[in-house]
Amino acid sequence: MRKITIAIDGYSSTGKSTVAKQLADYLGYVYVDSGAMYRAVTLFAMQNDIISKNHFNTKKLIESLDSINLKFKKEAVWNKAHIFLNEKDVEHEIRSLKVSEFVSPIASIREVRVKLVAQQQQMGLEKGVVMDGRDIGTVVFPKAELKIFMNASAKERAQRRYKELLERGEKIDYNDVLKNIQERDHIDTTRKDSPLLKAEDAIKIDNSEMNLEDQFHTVLQLAKDRIAGRI
Ligand code: C5P
Repeated sequence: MRKITIAIDGYSSTGKSTVAKQLADYLGYVYVDSGAMYRAVTLFAMQNDIISKNHFNTKKLIESLDSINLKFKKEAVWNKAHIFLNEKDVEHEIRSLKVSEFVSPIASIREVRVKLVAQQQQMGLEKGVVMDGRDIGTVVFPKAELKIFMNASAKERAQRRYKELLERGEKIDYNDVLKNIQERDHIDTTRKDSPLLKAEDAIKIDNSEMNLEDQFHTVLQLAKDRIAGRI
């Protein structure tokens, strides 16, 4: 069966990664969580005194980019591949609200995007890949055979994210989560370099009212149709 490239873009916490991973598992494709890469660069910046509440040293981050090594590794016991920052597994650490607070400004830096986009394109060279993010259908794989653009209301997304963070054991306030989602939406859609926008040929899905199963079946049907050349 022919292999295609599937790009899933959309706003924060729309469930892109859940459906992207389900789809990749079902089709036997590689799943790449591009947001994890921006989060890992952010963690690096936090650990190396490049960002803190009161200062943001863009120049130092750009100079340090060559020393940031990112890799995805998979082990049978994990449900999905983990991201490694300079050989250290940071999959859990990068999901904190602290990292979420800084990630969008970091992802607005052109040099950061150039480095990560090149690495993402490399991972998709042989097709058979499902990648989720903000600019996958517009910049990383503009020729992807299937492009999905996901959205849900900000309140619904904040609710899902809040639940996820509580389950991680973080002590957080729902309003802080909602504020973070709204801030990231704003930065992601208004940044100069590769803003979040729906590719012209992307199929829009609003999953505010969908459960995970309905969402998966909708996307899977689209993928099957595209692979078979029916749509
Ligand atoms: O997908 P996730 O919410 O983990 O992504 C974290 C942040 O990384 C986003 O809010 C966005 O600022 C940035 N990002 C991006 N381009 C991508 C993926 C993520 O700018 N392809």
